[in-house]
Amino acid sequence: MTLVVKVGGASGNALMPVLADLAHRTDYVLVHGGSDEVDRLGEALGRPSEYYTSPSGVVSRKSDPAHLEVLVMAIAGAVQTGIVAALTGLGVRAVGLSGVDGALLTARRKEASRAVVDGHVVLLKEDRSGTIERVHADLLRLLLDAGWVPVVGPPAVTPTGEVVNVDADRAAAAIASALNAEALLLLTNVPGLLRNPDDPASLIPTVARDEIDAVLPLAAGRMRKKVIAAREALNGSVPRVVIASSRGPDPVTRALGGEGTVFE
Ligand code: ADP
Repeated sequence: MTLVVKVGGASGNALMPVLADLAHRTDYVLVHGGSDEVDRLGEALGRPSEYYTSPSGVVSRKSDPAHLEVLVMAIAGAVQTGIVAALTGLGVRAVGLSGVDGALLTARRKEASRAVVDGHVVLLKEDRSGTIERVHADLLRLLLDAGWVPVVGPPAVTPTGEVVNVDADRAAAAIASALNAEALLLLTNVPGLLRNPDDPASLIPTVARDEIDAVLPLAAGRMRKKVIAAREALNGSVPRVVIASSRGPDPVTRALGGEGTVFE
């Protein structure tokens, strides 16, 4: 079965248990973000990360050219290389691809992102972020059929060759849809979608397709993108999406077993 697993890059995520659990599987694509590393490298380079909130409440990273440069170095560089090296150490034949390689993730650049600043909506004109319009799934199939594990992360590329930032959770949803994956796992630093983000015991175990819009207001900040990604994957004919913890032993097996928030 083709599985798409996205592992988070914010602090509190655990990478090695995810890789160890995946090492004995075949036919999966690993998608990654890398927000902690972008923040760390940005600080080191004197270009600290900045975030903005859209009018609909979605929190995004600012991606003007100077910040995009850091993002590419961190995600397509340090994070991806680290994951591919770690998988290699586990005996897995892994290949790292950013969305730019082979135009794997082709996106439309957003004209201007809208941000709420001091209660007013402003346009971020220099923003280099995009919306994925096409996934070249044939490249992924080529690798999977030959026994390679694709390790994929932002950025993406426009048809005119501009590099743009895209959200890794939504990229994972687009990849899962394009591959007709049996499941999409969004592994993160919390047990799933929580009714109260401060209370891990308030986990919502299941969300039916027609309940997603009702639970969306519960998901603040960056969790909102995961719920949006879950909706996009279900609409893209992925039968099952699980938002679950990357921490503890066997996180992939446990998420596949329904531990976390199951959307179907
Ligand atoms: P990752 O790097 O793993 O993708 P993010 O930091 O982007 O992680 O998103 C997960 C974060 O979303 C959680 O750590 C939590 O702070 C936040 N969050 C906001 N609302 C919720 C909610 N209702 N349930 C769970 N987490 C939430």
